Amino acid sequence: MIAVHARCTCGPREPFQATTITRRDLGPHDVLIDIAYAGICHSDVEHAWSLRGKSVYPLVPGHEIAGIVSAVGSHVTTFAVGDPAGVGNMVDSCRECASCRAGLEQYCTGGRVLTYNSIGRDGERTQGGYSEKIVVDEAFAVRIPESIPLQNAASLFCAGITMYSPLRHWNAGPGKRVAIVGFGGLGHVGVQISKALGAHTTVLDLSPAKREDGLRLGADEYRVSTDTGTFADLAGSFDLIISTVPANVDLDAHLGLLARDGTLVVLSIPKDPLGLSAVSLLNNRRSIGGTRSGGLAETREMIEFCGEHGIGAQVEVVHADRIDEAYERLMAGDVRFRFVIDISTMAKD
Ligand code: ZN
Ligand code: ZN
Repeated sequence: MIAVHARCTCGPREPFQATTITRRDLGPHDVLIDIAYAGICHSDVEHAWSLRGKSVYPLVPGHEIAGIVSAVGSHVTTFAVGDPAGVGNMVDSCRECASCRAGLEQYCTGGRVLTYNSIGRDGERTQGGYSEKIVVDEAFAVRIPESIPLQNAASLFCAGITMYSPLRHWNAGPGKRVAIVGFGGLGHVGVQISKALGAHTTVLDLSPAKREDGLRLGADEYRVSTDTGTFADLAGSFDLIISTVPANVDLDAHLGLLARDGTLVVLSIPKDPLGLSAVSLLNNRRSIGGTRSGGLAETREMIEFCGEHGIGAQVEVVHADRIDEAYERLMAGDVRFRFVIDISTMAKD
């Protein structure tokens, strides 16, 4: 077993504390990654605070992981020591169901193993990236292009793939008009990807404060959803709207922005059920859809695409002692645009 420093929380709203966890010895197909940065995702907060009521403690969150491979198992073929590598929100799946065979492990029906707060195939509870090292099967690790600094790469493994997958699935590209609702951790990566895919890209956010950032990161337009006239101006003007907002939005108002055959995609799980009028779908033959992150093949495609186009998360690097403060600021919307933990600050000696 490999002992590593980590930060865990022992209950909802309990402060993070230094701890030591163990990683399994390397199996023949495993790689050991020395973690350099771990992003703080909104869903980390949901798990740490047990907002969905399913958390088991002590809990080490973190599913936006970037680091360097420091050892490889005897049968590993796709990584060598020294390779930059990342891990997202899954560390295993059944590999046999129709979704796994299609490379869509995020929809595995035979037992997807999440990176933390999940039970691994060895029966052990998984612990995430707020730790110095992780052992993962090479099939669930992804090589990071040298052109992306690790601190900017980490969040691509959740925020990046969560945006890339729907943008690709619904064919964002030249001639398509895309709106990204919410300009935060997900949205700011989504804008970069949508623009690089060639789509006309509009940000729709509650606040005008991030307009300059939006335009700098490639948005063709930045519209404030609370401005009088925004929804009237933009009525029927998008082919694809992706809502990154982790709260209930006015779906009828947003559906009204879709052109004929347009689709509104929701990525988050708001507290209340979605509510909408069927008329909003009937008009313009509109659809509503959802997606859940992305599979490993698509994650590899995404990270190469980001490497080629100079895309990364804009980050604020935080010390491991400041995770609680980062959580409070994240929930208050006070971050541009993603916190990443500097894992070199993890040890408490
Ligand atoms: Zn996430
Ligand atoms: Zn499966």
